[in-house]
Amino acid sequence: MYFRVIVFIILIYLIFRAIKSMKRVRLERGDSARVNHPRASGEDLIEDPVCRTHIPVSQAYKKEIAGEIYYFCGKECCEKFMLSKNG
Ligand SMILES: [Zn+2]
Repeated sequence: MYFRVIVFIILIYLIFRAIKSMKRVRLERGDSARVNHPRASGEDLIEDPVCRTHIPVSQAYKKEIAGEIYYFCGKECCEKFMLSKNG
């Protein structure tokens, strides 16, 4: 009788542990997927501060403003950014 109860408790404990470890694996996979995503092409992606588009650095429109280099998806966004900085 006691033996059955103990086995039952151990079984519940093992199931609980299995569920916990499964959740942890799923979380770790989610994190690594998120980390790998921006470097999918093997090149650094930068975010356009105007339209929030991610562009590879080599294809970005570069502009130095007040000693800092900014990257945009195109000239239009650069001009919008300059206008918003000025006024
Ligand atoms: Zn843009």
